[in-house]
Amino acid sequence: MIVCGASKAPTVPVPPETIVFGGPCRNVSSPNVADDECAFCQNIAENQFDVIARGSRSLVVLDKHPINRGHILVIPIRHALDLASMTTAEVAEVALFAQAADRAIRRVLDAAVATNLLMSNGPAADQGVSHAHLHVIPREPGDGYEFREDYARYPLEALTEFERESLVEEVGGLLHNADVEADRPCARGRSASTS
Ligand SMILES: [Zn+2]
Ligand SMILES: [Zn+2]
Repeated sequence: MIVCGASKAPTVPVPPETIVFGGPCRNVSSPNVADDECAFCQNIAENQFDVIARGSRSLVVLDKHPINRGHILVIPIRHALDLASMTTAEVAEVALFAQAADRAIRRVLDAAVATNLLMSNGPAADQGVSHAHLHVIPREPGDGYEFREDYARYPLEALTEFERESLVEEVGGLLHNADVEADRPCARGRSASTS
């Protein structure tokens, strides 16, 4: 279980009627408007994070509950629920900051010889705070954390042909989709909600 650098747990779940699946954007909040119930938005507004770097769209902060020394979070400044809710520009900046954090961690921290990048999207994936964030976790030999295959769960049911073809179509379609070039939060799949 990954703990997150929040000072309070989110209390209000996402209203299900405002979620639109199948589009690149299913954010329930207006762009650049903080969510009053969000611990990360609150920490950002009140300067409660120990900020390592600040971009135009994201922050690099120290996790308040680090798994190892130097555990970093990269967080979009705008309230985006999860990866799917982030704009292309936010994803790009967060990814570049994560790479910079990875390089810095391994140069600066003697014990850290490796990292894990981890992003939890949705409660079933143990997303602890309902504001997108990418963990950059310093790793050292024998630190006791590991990703393991559990052979007791195999064999898993294979993807159907339809599922696999749909994945190919949707993921592979990214580079042919003009929307991905635009820095627009909700170009497609916009919810009918007025929020
Ligand atoms: Zn987390
Ligand atoms: Zn937030």
